[in-house]
Amino acid sequence: MSYKKQSSVDMMFPLKKEQVLLPGESEYNKEMQIWNGAVKYQPAMIIRPYNAKDVQSTIWLAAEKKMPLSVLGGGHDWAGRCLNDKGIVISMSRMNDIKIDPLQRVARVGGGIKAKELIAAAAPYKQVAVTGTIGCIGFAGFTLGGGYGPLSPSYGLAIDNLLGAELVLADGSIVYASEATYPDLFWAIRGGGGNFGVVTSLTVRLHDEKPILSGLICFPWSEATTILQRYAGFMKNAPDQLSSLVGLIPAPDGTPMLFISPTWYGEAAEGQRVINLLKGIGTIIFEQVGPMQYGDVLAMFDQHVVIGRHTSMQTRWLGDLTADVIEEIVIAGSERTSPFSMLNFHYFHGSPTRVPLTSTPFGLRKPHFMVEILAVWEPDDVANGQRHIQWARKLSQKMAKEAFPGGYPNILGPEEYDQIEDAYGVNLQRLREVKQQYDPGRTFNGIAIP
Ligand SMILES: Cc1cc2nc3c(=O)[nH]c(=O)nc-3n(C[C@H](O)[C@H](O)[C@H](O)COP(=O)(O)OP(=O)(O)OC[C@H]3O[C@@H](n4cnc5c(N)ncnc54)[C@H](O)[C@@H]3O)c2cc1C
Repeated sequence: MSYKKQSSVDMMFPLKKEQVLLPGESEYNKEMQIWNGAVKYQPAMIIRPYNAKDVQSTIWLAAEKKMPLSVLGGGHDWAGRCLNDKGIVISMSRMNDIKIDPLQRVARVGGGIKAKELIAAAAPYKQVAVTGTIGCIGFAGFTLGGGYGPLSPSYGLAIDNLLGAELVLADGSIVYASEATYPDLFWAIRGGGGNFGVVTSLTVRLHDEKPILSGLICFPWSEATTILQRYAGFMKNAPDQLSSLVGLIPAPDGTPMLFISPTWYGEAAEGQRVINLLKGIGTIIFEQVGPMQYGDVLAMFDQHVVIGRHTSMQTRWLGDLTADVIEEIVIAGSERTSPFSMLNFHYFHGSPTRVPLTSTPFGLRKPHFMVEILAVWEPDDVANGQRHIQWARKLSQKMAKEAFPGGYPNILGPEEYDQIEDAYGVNLQRLREVKQQYDPGRTFNGIAIP
């Protein structure tokens, strides 16, 4: 693709005033409000592109001014890699077009949409897409790092459902990456994160909707040992129709509660039978599982996704919930330093395990639990921040000896050097080569590629 580089005045010219937000402006503050309140960056400017050309102008401007650049999607990366200090933030919030082709079962979506927007747009056609558990997550950020979700056992990770993407590269060229065009770039963006360019649109496979049973089952934390043992055994033989999230959420009084959130996707009577078995593994203190629309599944945890609380996250890939791991989980649950801290275990099985390991950079295709350890505290508890962070680190370190090397790149913090080195496994060398080819100057710094 040929393009003509312009001077910085020309570069700014196509942008309208309302697209350029500066410190002190209320729109700037609103746009900067990301999920993790502990992130304190002060970019020099936020630019809201309407199209790929605006992104191109912004990339050229940052290059000419030698300013750091980052890309803000849904603002849910806990490490705040969407922002930067004294640089330019490209906020994708205005690039939120969604076009559904129900006959081809394909959606073409802007690089700034949230998962729930795609699901709402596909719902009238009785179609769904693979998304994460929470509707307000940025769809591009989620997808570029891998993308685990309730429909993954049936259809794979989000990257396994990506058919192509338009990107603006570090040199300003606008390209469409797919199996047919820029195949090496297409390979790299399916797991390599926002390291290769600004994704201005994604072409995504849709699926005909099937009946869904989903909800929440809560058990007393005092039964966590036996329930987690039974649950792990249960999930080992789970059919592809069943996905589940298990973990610790705070009860209304802040004490820990064990939850299982199953999602059955398929024939309803069989789903009811399987979920009844799951309900039988402990003493239920609260339960609400029933037929649901997929859009409502994505809203189930909204009350726990509070913008502005401080958070630090750790992640591990566990092949099994062994007796030792369960013991560590139970101890950590009882020793939480903050009533808001949580644990989530996403079980990875079924369709994504049948995708060849080297067909995308994603480093682990064996069945596993993707563990999220979230230390969460209120902004006015900042004095105890380090204690909360240490709580999460300690549990992660205890799990390390039983875990697969690496971890989920979307959640690995930039300082988890040991895990980052192993996160892409055999795909690391190729990923480095593609990075070197498309972004040798490291304009884009999303997930760390060692
Ligand atoms: C409450 C919560 C629930 C989560 N649940 C899940 C889950 O169920 N499954 C799962 O797999 N993950 C989950 N995650 C992790 C989540 O997928 C990642 O944090 C993801 O990076 C968030 O994307 P975002 O756009 O919201 O974040 P942002 O912070 O805006 O972006 C994160 C990074 O993605 C890149 N990026 C975003 N948009 C673009 C773009 N258009 N072009 C280029 N690069 C871009 C940038 O490098 C950016 O720094 C969850 C996170 C949270 C906080």
